[in-house]
Amino acid sequence: MLENKDQERTSLEKLGEFGLIEHLTKDFKISRKSTIKGIGDDATVLDFKDKKTVISTDLLIEGVHFDLSYMPLKHLGYKAVMVNLSDIYAMNATATQITVSIAVSNRFPLEALEELYAGIATACKMYNVDLVGGDTTSSKTGLLISVTAIGEAEESSLAYRSGAKPNDLLVVTGDLGAAYMGLQVLEREKEVFKVNPNSQPDLEPYSYIVERQLKPEARKDIPDLLKKLKVHPTSMIDISDGLSSEILHLSKSSGLGIDLYEDKIPLDPTVISACEEFKMDSTLVALSGGEDYELLFTIDQKEFPKIKGNPNFTVVGHTTGENEGAFLISRNNTKIPLTAQGWNSFA
Ligand SMILES: [Mg+2]
Repeated sequence: MLENKDQERTSLEKLGEFGLIEHLTKDFKISRKSTIKGIGDDATVLDFKDKKTVISTDLLIEGVHFDLSYMPLKHLGYKAVMVNLSDIYAMNATATQITVSIAVSNRFPLEALEELYAGIATACKMYNVDLVGGDTTSSKTGLLISVTAIGEAEESSLAYRSGAKPNDLLVVTGDLGAAYMGLQVLEREKEVFKVNPNSQPDLEPYSYIVERQLKPEARKDIPDLLKKLKVHPTSMIDISDGLSSEILHLSKSSGLGIDLYEDKIPLDPTVISACEEFKMDSTLVALSGGEDYELLFTIDQKEFPKIKGNPNFTVVGHTTGENEGAFLISRNNTKIPLTAQGWNSFA
């Protein structure tokens, strides 16, 4: 994959570190008013006036968080930005700037990094964030990407994990489990390819779930929509590790129990059919699959009419009393304790 791009391979040593940064970032434009000074000085200068500043960092490591045998570098650049913006939106904030740092081994030619930065540039453009800094260095093993996302919010609109109140409604955006099932399809095709390199996989029936894995979108629209609907989430988190683990975070931080209803979990039909094909339980996939980058939040019950019938939102449960624990209420109405892995089948 790295080799077939025009067969051109410019070694990184030719450019040197400063030449490399300059080359990779020269086409990035500044569009945010809050960016006073971007790339090109010792540090970035930002000005958020009377707003609060929100910052989040993630580190992605080759072989741990991504596999370049089926993840095109352009997609990887895009996804690395999405993963971070999602954390800013999970504070009910607006993402405004990012910094990107990479460590690369010399097996990557310049053309590969250009692909990576093309994905980063697309993400910046689509999500209206400025690239304002970063670092490049060499790595002996694989590729590492660290993105820091910066955002702003009115103090009154910020949503923390700890703010849920008893008997709040638990709401999720979009649908769950697709990214994980997309990964299953890609892993299967990788194995088929190993046996028969001439095989041409037909991914068309899986396009939605594969796209959710390779090109996830962070929910930039949700903080804006909540503002428009005048809904203030009492607590919020993004779904990066699976619904179950995020519910446990909200439950623990807010000191409340949470009941999740199995029959309310939103699943795309293609996720259900892929689960049948792979003989997997769709509830377990939604609970522990992860990488959906949807948002999970709680609202006061009084706010329900404002989100009722909105296709972006599904009420999946509610908070209970102080330290009552987090449970899945199954389709046959049994109460099963949630664990970070989905549920505790031994309970
Ligand atoms: Mg998060």
